[in-house]
Amino acid sequence: MSSNQEQEQDFLSLPPEVELPAANLPKSDIIMGIDLGTTYSCVAIVQDDFPKVVPSQKGQRTMPSIVAADDKGRLLFGEDAKKQLLINPTNTIYGAKRFIGRNFYSKEVEALSRYFSYSVAPLGAMSVGATIGGRTFSLPQVSAMVLNEMRRNVCNYLKQNVNMAVVSVPAYYTENQREAVREAGRIAGIDIIRIINEPTAAALAYGLNKEYDQKILVYDLGGGTFDASLLDVFENVFKVLATGGDTFLGGVDFDERVVEFILSEYERTEGEILQCDSVITQRLKDAAEQAKIELSSKTTSQIELPYITIQNSKFKDYKMEINREQLNDLTGDLVNRTVQVCMEVLDAAGCAPEDVGAMLLVGGQTRMPLVQEKVNQFFGKAPTKGVHPDEAVACGAALMGHSLTTESSVRLIDVLPLSIGGRQPDGTFKTIFEANSTLPNETEVGVATTHDGQTAIEMFLYQGESPQAVENEFLGAFIITGFTKNPRGNTKLAVTMSLNQESILKVTAKTLDTGKPLHVQLVARAPTSANGIGLQVSEPGAKRAKPTRRFSGLRNFIRRISTS
Ligand code: AMP
Repeated sequence: MSSNQEQEQDFLSLPPEVELPAANLPKSDIIMGIDLGTTYSCVAIVQDDFPKVVPSQKGQRTMPSIVAADDKGRLLFGEDAKKQLLINPTNTIYGAKRFIGRNFYSKEVEALSRYFSYSVAPLGAMSVGATIGGRTFSLPQVSAMVLNEMRRNVCNYLKQNVNMAVVSVPAYYTENQREAVREAGRIAGIDIIRIINEPTAAALAYGLNKEYDQKILVYDLGGGTFDASLLDVFENVFKVLATGGDTFLGGVDFDERVVEFILSEYERTEGEILQCDSVITQRLKDAAEQAKIELSSKTTSQIELPYITIQNSKFKDYKMEINREQLNDLTGDLVNRTVQVCMEVLDAAGCAPEDVGAMLLVGGQTRMPLVQEKVNQFFGKAPTKGVHPDEAVACGAALMGHSLTTESSVRLIDVLPLSIGGRQPDGTFKTIFEANSTLPNETEVGVATTHDGQTAIEMFLYQGESPQAVENEFLGAFIITGFTKNPRGNTKLAVTMSLNQESILKVTAKTLDTGKPLHVQLVARAPTSANGIGLQVSEPGAKRAKPTRRFSGLRNFIRRISTS
């Protein structure tokens, strides 16, 4: 897309044809809890102190997080969009949650784009856009369309105009990803009053008002990602002790293994390689997923692929069988990886498996018997059946929202999922806030000038665990000015960085000797391109300058960083 087109297109609103909730509904003070899932989303509200999942008008309790364009370019959402995934995969956006808030030029986006049939394109400085029906949407826009559907359900159901929500995100989300979700809320006209980590939400659904005093492990294996979090639940205080996960481990990886198996069986039995285009690939993925799901309740499953190829000018069908043992062999290593993460999370908190009082299984993939067996084996007891794997997160988010409107004493103590740090002059990463440190958090960093007559000090912030700064996620850059020229090393500054409960970063600086407050300016620029994109944060107390571009994922993060 040319930059002119990009300028013309509006990435900050819902597409005009998207249906909004009815305009004449009375305003509501209810706060929805929304689980914006990789494959399915779910919305809940609290009524008479109990969380309740709000079904769609067709009675579905979860909605596919899918947006598609049909052959006439009309937008489809949820079930309607899912229906065309098999026949029109290139015009169907699914798994948007895996791209949102990521840098287009990152290794992750490169790897992810191979998973999906729709095309992704760079937007703005480095965000990801998805193209369907000849139109490109920003990822926050795609998620906004899903959020809007959730909101329409609730408004329809309650006959009230509900526009506040607590939205859940994976505990492992970086700051940029969290901000992109907030952006999605703004686009959808939803006031996201709180972002809550999915495991914390699941723990709330399980333990709120139950007077528990135990450690619980939330094991969340969904469509695309795996999260494990250890929480200490004492009455209504939910303290995250440690969290870990793998953003490249989820149900689709299990499906992928079954697809490989189907292809190898096809080759073995038919003596030829099955040629795949995007429609056939999608059909294979679908058949693999169906078989995988069936094998959670049965020990064998038939895979049927009618008209899968053409042989001697005739359509050819393919049928085969797979059993649970074969599925376990194909995917056992994936399940072992989740157990390894659980081990690391326990280690980080200094706990042993036997210290865990209950394990909550969340996410559709946890219905696989092998997952339940391995969790049972590792922790020495069966996981609790106390929460619904598809609904717990939305219910917990709704409970959180409800507690914000009542006198409830619920307290969440979260941790930072990935370290935040700065780039050293030699390119290495210096940790400022360690992963798993408790939020809120504050730290002071000492900085000195490195050359004579220096009048500004620049700091580049990143998030991640690589010792090389550029291999981590770039968060933003600060320029500190307002100190006098001196020989190098003679100007010493104290830079205070604080992260609030929702890990919004605030930076202030002063001279070490006199304590004089200094000016901290935020510049949003990718360190690789070194091209500023014209963002300014003005003097403390003054209004911020308007961004000069209409869209930039980076700018959205920058809004969250306060310099005063
Ligand atoms: P979620 O993101 O929590 O909606 O999880 C979706 C993932 O769960 C998808 O990969 C589904 O294939 C998988 N899934 C759903 N139901 C089952 C089941 N009964 N057995 C195994 N996997 C399932």
